[in-house]
Amino acid sequence: MAVNFEYNGVTYKNAIELTRAMPLLTSVMVGYYDGAEVLLANAGALCYDTVQVAHDPETLQPNKIGKRITTHCRDSHHNTVIEHGAATFVKKVPIFVARQDLRARHASFDERSLRYCRATDGSLTYFIPHYYSDRFIQSADEKGLSHYADELRLQRDEWIEDHERAIQRYSRYTDDELNGMWDALGLNPERVRETQRSRLPVGINTVYMDTRNLWSWIHHSEKRLCLRAQDEIRRLRRQEVNQLAKVFPTVFGDVNMPCYMAGGCPEAKKCGLIQLDETGKWALPYLKRKNSTK
Ligand SMILES: Cc1cc2nc3c(=O)[nH]c(=O)nc-3n(C[C@H](O)[C@H](O)[C@H](O)COP(=O)(O)OP(=O)(O)OC[C@H]3O[C@@H](n4cnc5c(N)ncnc54)[C@H](O)[C@@H]3O)c2cc1C
Repeated sequence: MAVNFEYNGVTYKNAIELTRAMPLLTSVMVGYYDGAEVLLANAGALCYDTVQVAHDPETLQPNKIGKRITTHCRDSHHNTVIEHGAATFVKKVPIFVARQDLRARHASFDERSLRYCRATDGSLTYFIPHYYSDRFIQSADEKGLSHYADELRLQRDEWIEDHERAIQRYSRYTDDELNGMWDALGLNPERVRETQRSRLPVGINTVYMDTRNLWSWIHHSEKRLCLRAQDEIRRLRRQEVNQLAKVFPTVFGDVNMPCYMAGGCPEAKKCGLIQLDETGKWALPYLKRKNSTK
């Protein structure tokens, strides 16, 4: 397993320091099964006595047998072959994103506990929607929608006030200085801290480590890369797929939205944005529209 606590070119001494440096809505690969793709190719080859498969990365070159077996198994949903590899990410996301992330069940998680950790160190940050950014509000002004721009400024102030107040009160009532009071009242300060968490809004950050086998990462990625998924979790998934493709190019090189992978939309309710060309591989109208709005 290769382990690396690096973000933006800086290597941190452990996962905690890494998460402190990560901005909200970030997922960083901190571990992966080095050489897993060779193992996957050999797992597939074992099924068919394909003795031509090699034990080195050469077998994963274009048109080589190891690459063909691996992608055949992946695309035929011979999932167990793909399960022999694994990767671990550390994430810092709002709680409402984490709740969606944790729904995909084939994973091992460890999450920062607010029973044991303190908020007073500034580690609790919170999500602010893009439509409250200066840039967005300014663009509303420029479009002659000053009335709505003013409304957005007001809403943003309230948003910040709500979150800051929740964090401040949560910090105050979970402070060690109050331990004497809770003790005197016959209450366990740890239990009090647990219940005080309910003061915090779901836009507050949480941090956790998420390990999955490669099949599970593919399944999870495809589901949440779908344009019907919430933007915030889709952005997270995109970051993860990009990092997975760097270390596992055979398996993840072309992992994308489910309609690309299945050659058509598997959802009953369509996004209405994607129309695949006759090869089933390219969503031309969507790509054109996306590029024209850059
Ligand atoms: C766009 C989008 C919108 C969503 N909206 C909602 C929503 O409004 N409300 C909501 O509650 N959820 C929602 N979800 C979550 C969704 O319903 C699934 O719970 C989530 O995507 C996990 O899917 P999964 O079960 O296939 O994945 P995993 O949990 O990773 O499981 C992978 C596969 O393993 C198998 N498996 C796992 N556990 C079992 C089991 N116990 N029994 C049998 N087979 C099993 C199944 O084949 C499953 O497909 C949404 C998901 C998406 C992508």
